[in-house]
Amino acid sequence: MSRKPILAGNWKMNLDHLAGLSLVQDLGAALADKDHDPSKAEAVVIPPFTDIRTVQVLVEGDKLPIAWGAQDISAHDDGAYTGEISGSMLAALKCSYVVVGHSERRQYHAESDALVNAKAKKVIEYGMTPIICCGEALEVRKAGKHVEHTVAQIEGALAGIDAADVAKLVIAYEPIWAIGTGETATADDAQEVCGAIRKAVEKLYDAPTAEAVRIQYGGSVKPGNVVEIMSKPDVDGALVGGASLKAGDFADIVTFYQ
Ligand code: PGA
Repeated sequence: MSRKPILAGNWKMNLDHLAGLSLVQDLGAALADKDHDPSKAEAVVIPPFTDIRTVQVLVEGDKLPIAWGAQDISAHDDGAYTGEISGSMLAALKCSYVVVGHSERRQYHAESDALVNAKAKKVIEYGMTPIICCGEALEVRKAGKHVEHTVAQIEGALAGIDAADVAKLVIAYEPIWAIGTGETATADDAQEVCGAIRKAVEKLYDAPTAEAVRIQYGGSVKPGNVVEIMSKPDVDGALVGGASLKAGDFADIVTFYQ
């Protein structure tokens, strides 16, 4: 498989400035202890906006094998949009990745597929890579509609984005019932939906685009289950919440390949 695994730690709205600073330093040390080989897997941290500059300075200063990103982006360009953070601001902080459409934003901020699509386009316009989240609630899974629901979210999120950009982006399949609950989808559940997403990308675009796009699983990923999840052919990484707040655990997850 030529797709490089991507393990991204979404800190969500956690940690203060000092705790974030220690986490990045400790993560750098833990990855060095484990002889992490950045050619085998990519480590990404996604702090709150207020800690992105700190992460950038530490990672650049110590040349740590860690990329960074943001948890959201405005669909607008710079201007009179109180409280928003623009693509140009994130690009200036050298963010590589921006998460869009996380289920917590869809749920608490009523983000629609159309808004997620607009945000994904902004990320690309400013030269960064979107991590587009999708995934079903428990009722949808119980009704057996998880694949069609998730594929429809992805069709909406990718509308009007061309194949060359889709090939470079990241999709994160995160069943909502498995987020922060300790309830992990089985590796087969993850494969079923990640595989269906890849087929949908092939149908919307072409086989090379589907082969290139990276698809993560997210939802209670931990050191104890990452190896099995990563063994599935269409799972190219993990979007990790809770376990990314502990340097040792996240380093274990990043070095799942050992
Ligand atoms: P979790 O969160 O690992 O704490 O379940 C995953 C996510 O929401 O990205």
